[in-house]
Amino acid sequence: MEVYYIVIFFVFGSVFGSFYNVVGLRIPNDNFLESDRSYCPRCDKTLHWYELIPIISYLFQAGKCRNCKEKISPLYPTIELSTAFLFSFSYYFFGFQLELVMAVLLTSLCVIIVVSDITYMLIPNKILLFFLPFLIILRIIDPLEPWWSSLVGAAVGFLLLTLIILVSKGGMGAGDMKLFTILGIVLGYKGILLTFFLATIFGTLITLLLLATKKINRKSPVPFGPSICLAALTTYYFGNYIINWYITSFF
Ligand SMILES: [Zn+2]
Repeated sequence: MEVYYIVIFFVFGSVFGSFYNVVGLRIPNDNFLESDRSYCPRCDKTLHWYELIPIISYLFQAGKCRNCKEKISPLYPTIELSTAFLFSFSYYFFGFQLELVMAVLLTSLCVIIVVSDITYMLIPNKILLFFLPFLIILRIIDPLEPWWSSLVGAAVGFLLLTLIILVSKGGMGAGDMKLFTILGIVLGYKGILLTFFLATIFGTLITLLLLATKKINRKSPVPFGPSICLAALTTYYFGNYIINWYITSFF
């Protein structure tokens, strides 16, 4: 475990996080390839390279556009910082094993979904379909224990969410269902059940927090994607500890 590599993963993570902001914002609008340079959404000023350094630029500009003083969404640096942390944590957790690739892919998928779902209340099919083959191939080369856990996990994720959608009539969408199916492949059947349980808790806590701080009212829809992603990452890293703790505490 080299500290040197942890720093490299952090720096790469912040750069990828900056890219994932763009992907998450542009893919649902189909303008991903329209403009290769980043610009201020209010005054259209093209940003200089020194205004595009992840995390640091935001701090130096005090969260405002240098030209028109428009407030820059704190989502950008939050996403950059989260990706940086998750990339370096993935390396810290796995070292240079094959599972490190899965950790980086899962982090990337989750980060892009959080951006799209917070901004548009949408989990883009294109993103899910882009990641799906890589996740399947990795789970074939580097299977869970037992190997069929991924198959059962996908089935459980699909059926559980389909049931919820039918019962709740609009609480969750088809995007959430597809995401759960894919996460079932990565996390297995125990993992997907824990993810569902944690996502419900995180979703409730986030909604209560937003209501308490008056960011939303009782009728506002709250995207569920961020809670699912937070739950999936928690399960991915700490699921075994949580399940063992639960079994030894209550049985
Ligand atoms: Zn501006």
